[in-house]
Amino acid sequence: PGEGELEALQHADVARLLPVPGAESDKYRRGVVGIAAGSARYPGAAVLAVSGALRGGAGAVRYVGPAGDAVIARFPETLVSDRGPAKAGRVQAWVTGPGAGEDAATVAEVLGTDVPVLVDADGLRLAERDAVRGRTAPTLMTPHAGEAAALLGVRREEVEGRRLAAARELAAVYRATVLLKGSTTLVADAGGGAARVNATGTSWLATAGSGDVLSGLAGSLLAAGLRALDAGSTAAYLHGLAGRFAAQGAPAGAHDVSERIPEAWRDVR
Ligand code: AMP
Ligand code: MG
Repeated sequence: PGEGELEALQHADVARLLPVPGAESDKYRRGVVGIAAGSARYPGAAVLAVSGALRGGAGAVRYVGPAGDAVIARFPETLVSDRGPAKAGRVQAWVTGPGAGEDAATVAEVLGTDVPVLVDADGLRLAERDAVRGRTAPTLMTPHAGEAAALLGVRREEVEGRRLAAARELAAVYRATVLLKGSTTLVADAGGGAARVNATGTSWLATAGSGDVLSGLAGSLLAAGLRALDAGSTAAYLHGLAGRFAAQGAPAGAHDVSERIPEAWRDVR
């Protein structure tokens, strides 16, 4: 990508960014991603975030939260912990927020760590602005227009009418990288510079749980060592392709989208 105001990744860019294990790699070197998400009320969000994370290139997925049984039933390879994020064991990046309900304490604990953090969904509402601003490691926030509007204190239509400016403004206010979801996805860093746009998706992705899959996928790429702008835009690219493969002109559920991520990955490589 060049120096423009808005860059679109191409297949070759994504292929270069994808974390491929070397011959001597092991699961820890590939990165461990922590998922601190879900609640008794929304266990499915945890399952979907884990599903995305397992397909994102980290060597292991660690889950903390009340949906451990549901996660294990579907994905037995997940490392499940009943301790909080701070005591769960080392991870290289955290995802927090999907299906979190009102669990502000978990979100705060995750924000207090010194590794990259992705904040999505309920976590966006629960996160203290100063806790995000004060972080020493990168933060990736992934709102849709409604969530971005709530954070900026404006109406949703106002975000939709100036999406890039809204993403940049949110990034500056929170000192975070912001991935603004919608029919296209924008990713902007706090420090300015060229933002990214992704248009690989399909409107069939407008379905419950679709964003939870994206958050796990992007978190996994963060854990594998991609910087937030690259992790977010690469995840959006693969997620969009996976959505196309899953839908092919017919409705698909979020779990169907997740299952097509490996195909998107192969298509890019
Ligand atoms: P969420 O709103 O958190 O469930 O996330 C929805 C996901 O679906 C995001 O990745 C969006 O970018 C994507 N999405 C939603 N609506 C559309 C659309 N009309 N066209 C393409 N992608 C969409
Ligand atoms: Mg969402």
